[in-house]
Amino acid sequence: MNKLIDKHNRVVDYIRIAVTDKCNLRCFYCMPNEGIDFVKQKQLMSYEELLRVANVLSKQGVSKVRITGGEPFLRKDIMYFIKSLSEIKGINKIAITTNGTHTLKYLDELMQYGVRNFNLSIDSIDKARFFDITRRDMFDTVWDCFEEMSKRDLDLKLNAVVIKDRNIPDLIPMVALTKDRNVSVRFIEEMPFNGKGANYQNLEWNYKKILQHIEGHFGTATKLQDEKNSTSLNYKIPGHQGSFGIIPAYSRTFCGTCNRIRLTPMGIIKTCLYDEGIFNVRDLLRAGATDEQLLEAIQSAIGQKHKNGFEAEAQRKKNPNIIESMTTIGG
Ligand code: SAM
Ligand code: SF4
Repeated sequence: MNKLIDKHNRVVDYIRIAVTDKCNLRCFYCMPNEGIDFVKQKQLMSYEELLRVANVLSKQGVSKVRITGGEPFLRKDIMYFIKSLSEIKGINKIAITTNGTHTLKYLDELMQYGVRNFNLSIDSIDKARFFDITRRDMFDTVWDCFEEMSKRDLDLKLNAVVIKDRNIPDLIPMVALTKDRNVSVRFIEEMPFNGKGANYQNLEWNYKKILQHIEGHFGTATKLQDEKNSTSLNYKIPGHQGSFGIIPAYSRTFCGTCNRIRLTPMGIIKTCLYDEGIFNVRDLLRAGATDEQLLEAIQSAIGQKHKNGFEAEAQRKKNPNIIESMTTIGG
């Protein structure tokens, strides 16, 4: 098997697939409240097209797939897709990033398909602040989902984007959740992908400040050994069952071990969060490409993978002031 290797000698064995750009929440850092031009059904990668890409990649050593969006559970027949994905030889880990509003009803079935890795996004454990951030009154549903998931035998991570003046009072209570629960709470630096343009000169609540804030309350945290290719710096408060992590998504300290590519709902392959998209796999497939041609195009895209997110951002041709929404990138 020929592995997928970029010009910086990093092996790509992980793809994140955003199956839809639609969402029932409106997290302000991700997308505007109104005026969103959602992708038409015909423009979406079909499940058959997605499965074909996954199949071809699985033969080149891609063994992990993350399903994300938009909100993945809003896409019709998503369980058909997940089941089919779980049947592909070589794909041995399926992970899902979800907002938890429609997840619970699928949990048993997901576990039957071997899905155990969940990132549940919850930016605040305070109902009013949750509403302020997501612009929707769905805190109770998401909290119930968290409670149920935390009782199951799952690899559960809670994702919270850290946002100045919005959810700083949540940081300490969220770390406190790890005292009696075997969950990992992960704090994500805010990135400039809110769908309406954002030019961040610097980010006040960066990973250093987040850690200082937590240690200011709990005392020195124990640094854990980060998993290979981990994007988070992981810690534990002594005596706590669970752990916490900080994802320097804006500071981009993790690019050296990047092992992933992304596929957007419209079929654009991104080899970095910060690039503007390398090529459209959907168009290639609809033009009748063979599996060999598909693989060649993906290999060529991976060959051009930028060294890091700063280089990718600098190379964005269209608009240095990023107007993309995370809902099409998938996080
Ligand atoms: N709807 C699902 C959810 O919210 O988990 C999956 C898609 S969402 C785009 C994936 C992840 O990206 C979420 O954890 C979300 O908090 C994160 N995200 C979205 N916009 C972001 C931004 N501007 N900066 C940092 N993280 C962001
Ligand atoms: Fe929806 Fe997730 Fe974006 Fe929030 S972060 S608006 S839940 S896609």
